[in-house]
Amino acid sequence: MDALNGAHIAAWIERAADVMEREKVLLTELDAAIGDSDHGTNMARGFTAVRVRLGGLDHGDVGALLKGVGMILLSTVGGASGPLYGTLFREAGQRAAGAAALDLAALAGCLEAGLDGVKRRGKASPGDKTMVDALSPAVDALKAALSAPAPTGDPARSSLMDGLARAAEAAQAGALATVPLIARKGRASYLGERSAGHQDPGATSCSLLLRSLAATAGV
Ligand code: ADP
Ligand code: MG
Repeated sequence: MDALNGAHIAAWIERAADVMEREKVLLTELDAAIGDSDHGTNMARGFTAVRVRLGGLDHGDVGALLKGVGMILLSTVGGASGPLYGTLFREAGQRAAGAAALDLAALAGCLEAGLDGVKRRGKASPGDKTMVDALSPAVDALKAALSAPAPTGDPARSSLMDGLARAAEAAQAGALATVPLIARKGRASYLGERSAGHQDPGATSCSLLLRSLAATAGV
């Protein structure tokens, strides 16, 4: 696979809805430690709503599809993360407007636009112990894959697949690296130094989202 079309994006969302439902307890437990115990239910509710309404969205235009997903997440996830995930998908969709499919370069551009939107809206930087700590290294990994030599070995493994595998790994490493950090944004920041020693729930859900995308591409 060397490009993601509307059907692939829809499959990603379906998979993400399953994963958020399956990992609901984990995400809520992480939020119980440094927040208000709702991140798992927020994410599962949001992605289930998107899954239910997926059929009514335009699958021929990936930009419109991503924007539609963002609108539904914005109105159903709630909490601090709802507007942020809504922004991620809407800004990514804006960048992809009119595209029938996204190759590695287009996907890297889209996710970078989404990351910029999240940072603008939430005013978080890497190291603040938020979803940005998973998303930002994932975008970096996609951009790095653009200039990396074509993957060797398995001829069926495209640069896109390689980039997505690296992005998922980078997001997971970024989420794990939030453990020692002191939160500087969101509810967890109220705890100050007591927020250290716990993994950020939003960085964890973001890592799950990127893992789901890689799995959709078969890696
Ligand atoms: P709430 O904190 O309102 O209960 P959630 O529990 O659904 O919302 O989401 C919490 C997650 O949202 C945090 O773990 C963090 O990753 C993310 N988050 C919170 N505030 C910000 C922000 N300003 N910028 C980026 N991400 C943020
Ligand atoms: Mg919460």
